[in-house]
Amino acid sequence: MLAALRARSQPFARIEADLIAPAGLRSAATARAATDAAGHPDSVLLHLSGDTQVSASIVIRGIPYQGAHGLAGTFGHVPIVPDGVRCACGQRGCLATVAAPAIVLARAELDDFAHVYGRRAAIAELAERIVAAEDRARWAWLDAAHWIGRTLQAVIPTLDPDVVVVGGWWGPFAADIEASFRDNRPTIGGGALDGLPAFTTARPGDPDGYAGARAQARDRLRAVLAASV
Ligand SMILES: [Zn+2]
Repeated sequence: MLAALRARSQPFARIEADLIAPAGLRSAATARAATDAAGHPDSVLLHLSGDTQVSASIVIRGIPYQGAHGLAGTFGHVPIVPDGVRCACGQRGCLATVAAPAIVLARAELDDFAHVYGRRAAIAELAERIVAAEDRARWAWLDAAHWIGRTLQAVIPTLDPDVVVVGGWWGPFAADIEASFRDNRPTIGGGALDGLPAFTTARPGDPDGYAGARAQARDRLRAVLAASV
């Protein structure tokens, strides 16, 4: 990926030559998660977002966890819908096939609106219509929230996070996601299974993850400088 960036951007290649530490790439989801993880330094944090695609990031006590192959948190490609439609990734029934923004906008009959005004404006319109309880928008969202919650029923017992941060346009509707998640919980375990994560909404103001990326770059630079003393 870095090699492709160098080939496409001469300014990047020139700047890279002057960097003290090697350049690192982070997904926007990971960068956004870093912004929220700053408020939960001792937690296992699962950060969800559905703005550009369905994504998640895991931050364990301040450190982004990307897994053995960089695939941890590929939330959108959990194949949750039995016999579902084919996803762009090749699997059937991925969460992205029922909860990606383009799908929810189409179900809410806002795909033409998105074509004219752009996806971000269409999502803002969708959110307004959901709040106003417009039938089609509300139905489109609640169907997506149902599948997001079903996916969390598999992911949360696997990861056991302290906190689930719901980011982007999903944030104001986090209660719908939590309600769907809680809809199918174990009833045994003598209380041991009651350790549910807290659901919170992401901090506003960093929709593209720039602040989180800056914070991560700053931490990395400090570590490099400390190691060189
Ligand atoms: Zn997929």
